Amino acid sequence: MSTPTVVRDLRSFSFGGGVQSMAALVLAAQGRIDYHTFLFANVGDDSENPATLTYVQRYARPYAAAHGIELTTLDRVMVRSGETRTLYGEITREGSKSLKIPVRMSNGAPGTRSCTADYKILVIGRELKRRGATPDHPATVGIGISLDEIHRANRRRSEPHEHIAYPLLELGLRRTDCARIIRDAGLPVPPKSSCWFCPFKRPESWHEQRRSEPELFEKACQLEELLNRRRDELGKDHVYLTRFGKPLRDAIPDGVDTLPFEIDDGDGLCDSGWCMT
Ligand code: SF4
Repeated sequence: MSTPTVVRDLRSFSFGGGVQSMAALVLAAQGRIDYHTFLFANVGDDSENPATLTYVQRYARPYAAAHGIELTTLDRVMVRSGETRTLYGEITREGSKSLKIPVRMSNGAPGTRSCTADYKILVIGRELKRRGATPDHPATVGIGISLDEIHRANRRRSEPHEHIAYPLLELGLRRTDCARIIRDAGLPVPPKSSCWFCPFKRPESWHEQRRSEPELFEKACQLEELLNRRRDELGKDHVYLTRFGKPLRDAIPDGVDTLPFEIDDGDGLCDSGWCMT
């Protein structure tokens, strides 16, 4: 069987707006990795961490433009209706029964999710197809996984018209190296990118959100309550945004400082390499 030829023009990097993605953008600008197209699959302006969207607008875009690198934002556009959807809009839509996000059961285990596939993998995959990628001529998609997250590599679902690459792993870079690369380029280190309501978020990140973005935290509490009102109507068990098996308001009490010894059960579970990079 012949090996498919990777279409060089279709080399792209899945840009998540976080530390690893931004380091990759800097490395590309410096000619240290061979990527000239960065695709940012936006889960929605009402869904992505607002600080990430601000960072992308204020720093990533101007930096990419100044170095002749394409940084394109892709929305989830429904094929039939042409309607643009956001993840938050979809899960809160009137009458929606959709649990697209990895909500946690009362034992703390996350449920299955389709958010990453629908809002990241399919969106980028469709764009690469539109640009000419086929199973015989797959596009390269760089994913920003660093050495300390190597367990997240290889678990990423691959589309037939894509060839997945891990350029930061190839360079042996850790997350701290990524932050240094960004700082050395004269840029601030970006915040962690993820949906502000992501159930994979660590407890310390929820505490931080409650402290510094109380309105967003309140919105997350209301989202959890909405999901559980719907679950009540269906006669189903409650689900939660944290692993503690109780409502977010109680799980993350007001006025509690971050616990430095919290176990990291969060980001690693967003295992596709398409979220939080
Ligand atoms: S950050 Fe979380 S909620 Fe958002 S797309 Fe990724 S897994 Fe889903």
